[in-house]
Amino acid sequence: MGDNAPQYDYVKRLHFIFWPKGFELSAEWFFKLKEFDSLGKMKASHLKVIKEQEGRLSKLSDKRQEQISEASTLKSELLSVQQSYFETEKKMNTCEEQASRLHSIGGDQAKIEAFKQEAADLENKLFEYIERTEVIQASLEDNKTFLAGLENTLKEIELEVNQEVQENQTGISQAELRMKLIKEELPPNFKATLESTLKKNLAVGSFTRIDNGSCFFCRYKISRTDESEIDMQQLLKLCPQCSRIFLPYGS
Ligand SMILES: [Zn+2]
Repeated sequence: MGDNAPQYDYVKRLHFIFWPKGFELSAEWFFKLKEFDSLGKMKASHLKVIKEQEGRLSKLSDKRQEQISEASTLKSELLSVQQSYFETEKKMNTCEEQASRLHSIGGDQAKIEAFKQEAADLENKLFEYIERTEVIQASLEDNKTFLAGLENTLKEIELEVNQEVQENQTGISQAELRMKLIKEELPPNFKATLESTLKKNLAVGSFTRIDNGSCFFCRYKISRTDESEIDMQQLLKLCPQCSRIFLPYGS
């Protein structure tokens, strides 16, 4: 760019002398607008990559959160099963004590049998609680292993993502700097038009072209006169409908 600087000055001076009739010279400024447009698109694609990369991380973080909350559900179920186990064991012991107390005083045989039956039923319940405890503990173990693997993956991906994000942010800064310089190089009417169009924050960019007699973006029909002024005379014009700046054919 430095090598071109004197030439730009020359072009600028000529432009100034002939303005506004020197439309041939406006080709230079449209060339810059086109570069500005490309830089804007480049910036958008860098932003897209950054968003995708950050999406990778947030997906993994969501998965980790899922695992953590699953573990906490399992742990609270385990506590409640253990609580039930102790309560049932206590009831079972009481039944056995009652049975042997009745037995020792020569009590009613039917009552003794009833206590023994209840104790046996409670013991079966205890086996169920033990089985459930083993299942929960195995699930917790799986969860722990999976979570540890996930943490390692997260660390690796985080490194990759950070690097990608940093590279793309550098790309964005470079594009922004070049865009700022281009704005400063433009003659006042180009600069003012560009700035007011940028303020509108139009989707997919601030520029358009004539495509088969219509605005490429919004398909607004362009008159023959306007088409000739834009494409042949290279005058700076906006689309009356979507207000994007027309880049002339060939620029
Ligand atoms: Zn349009």
